[in-house]
Amino acid sequence: MKISSSLAVIITCVIITILQISCSQKPPDFTSFPKIDAHFHIHTLNQAVIDQARADNFMLLSPNTRSSNQAFIDEQFRFTVGQHKKNPDIVAFASTFSMQDWGRPDWQDKAIAYLQASFDSGAVAVKVWKDIGMTFRDADSSFIMIDNPAFDPIFAFIASQNKTVLAHQGEPLNCWLPLDSMTVNGDKSYFKNNPQYHMFLHPNYPTHAQLMAARDNRLAKNPSLRIVGAHLGSLEWDVDVLAKTLDKYPNLAVDMSARICHLQVQNRDKVRNFIITYQDKLLYGTDLGVSDNDDPEKITADVHNTWLEDWRYFTTDDTMSTWNVETPFRGLKLDKTILHKIYHDNALRWYPGLQSKE
Ligand SMILES: [Zn+2]
Repeated sequence: MKISSSLAVIITCVIITILQISCSQKPPDFTSFPKIDAHFHIHTLNQAVIDQARADNFMLLSPNTRSSNQAFIDEQFRFTVGQHKKNPDIVAFASTFSMQDWGRPDWQDKAIAYLQASFDSGAVAVKVWKDIGMTFRDADSSFIMIDNPAFDPIFAFIASQNKTVLAHQGEPLNCWLPLDSMTVNGDKSYFKNNPQYHMFLHPNYPTHAQLMAARDNRLAKNPSLRIVGAHLGSLEWDVDVLAKTLDKYPNLAVDMSARICHLQVQNRDKVRNFIITYQDKLLYGTDLGVSDNDDPEKITADVHNTWLEDWRYFTTDDTMSTWNVETPFRGLKLDKTILHKIYHDNALRWYPGLQSKE
């Protein structure tokens, strides 16, 4: 009788321990976890996606982008500032400056005055796009790179205002490779359908290495300026290469937007260890966008599904597959403190002025 009751106690204890272990391994709840999508383009005053973000406990940082003309920048500003005013708890935005009058003596002063006005309206950052480095040319027809001295007063001004630069420089390395060497299906189909952007076919354009060197030079020139490299800083193909750049430039962090698939094609343990090591310098983001051309219901469902799939990748060790990645891969099952950083705290640290979701 005595033996069987202590056996019962032991069995009960074992069951409780198993339950506790399986409980502690359960991924955190998606909906209640505070999250920031640090790269999400809003090009509409429609409320549907904003309401979905609110329901999913997301804040959205929307970067204004493409600096070729002021009219387009003004249009984006109208959408992002409008949404920010209507939904200050959900929408934040980054400004950008126009390259339209590059070379004119008052270009820098105008750009700085425009940025000052957008900071006054609530912008937390300034986006620079890949058109700097890959599109705009100087009077002598050389490409205007991000480390061009003419940008110096602008970046010094941004740093002096304690704002951050979100820099999309270059493209995925796949862009410089032949189609059959590309690592993800999305790049293969995009560059097949858009040969004009496939740099493998355009050797007269800057190389990937030249674009990265210009970006690194800008980081070195402005050590007090925070730069968030969009899209894993265009070093998406190998976390070891990205790690070296993050080590070299303390003022650099990266967002993962539109490049999570490039993590999914790399060795799972290597990626997992990379995220653990650089847990303070990685920001979750999608680069999804919503515009007036979208069906609000469909786009809202797509956005919600992407957020859920990414959450599954970071929080579980499920075997997963997507159209973009050729072979199945396993989720990273990161612990809660790291999830909290990449989904929330890092965005607040790298973009001062963003509102906390907590
Ligand atoms: Zn973007």
